[in-house]
Amino acid sequence: MISIAIDGPSGSGKSTISKILAKKLGFLTLDTGALYRAAAYYFLNNNINYKIKDKVVNNLKNINISVNHDKNAQLIYLNGKNITNFIRTPEVSSAASDISAIPEVREFLINIQRDFAKKHNVVMDGRDIGTVILPNADVKFFLTASPNARAKRRYNQLMEKNSSKKIKLEDIIDSISNRDFNDSNRKISPLTADKDAIIIDNSLLNLEETVDVFLNAIKERVNIETK
Ligand code: C5P
Repeated sequence: MISIAIDGPSGSGKSTISKILAKKLGFLTLDTGALYRAAAYYFLNNNINYKIKDKVVNNLKNINISVNHDKNAQLIYLNGKNITNFIRTPEVSSAASDISAIPEVREFLINIQRDFAKKHNVVMDGRDIGTVILPNADVKFFLTASPNARAKRRYNQLMEKNSSKKIKLEDIIDSISNRDFNDSNRKISPLTADKDAIIIDNSLLNLEETVDVFLNAIKERVNIETK
């Protein structure tokens, strides 16, 4: 099986790029952030205080997360229920960032990620894919962009979906900066580029240009046809 690892901070466009690459390569995607989000959703939905580590750890046994793909779209199930559409809220983002610093949570989600890569050719994106989850991935990328560029993109996405809501760019910059800080400073599996990773800063690249950089790097390293 072939695996492509893409790590990087929130809003760098990892998931969008992963989906496009997977389509071109005929691979599946695994957006691993969705797994942390699914676990976070469990705690929020059951009114469990996820800020208390023991509560989180003791409840992991009650959580069963699985992933399915429908026409290449990733669907996330929590204890048998499809929760794909409920895990993109700011509350879930923030709770996911908090619980992802707990070693037992990371351990709990390792197998689902590794098993997926054993069964499928995959473009897997997250924070520690190249460093921890798939240290032998065929190609490793670290995709980043300035906090302002990332916040602007997220702002535009939210405005497209929800133009009636009052969304402030400054709030998004704050939230991205907080998550960057949490993800980069946690003791376990901090967000960092693996020594073998190809580092791409796409602050000044559009989507098409970014995809080209990825595809060229993949073709140089893996003998593969693209669609
Ligand atoms: O990528 P996404 O924003 O959906 O991830 C949600 C949160 O899950 C991140 O802020 C990060 O704290 C955590 N995460 C992680 N390791 C991963 C993927 C996500 O710690 N591989």
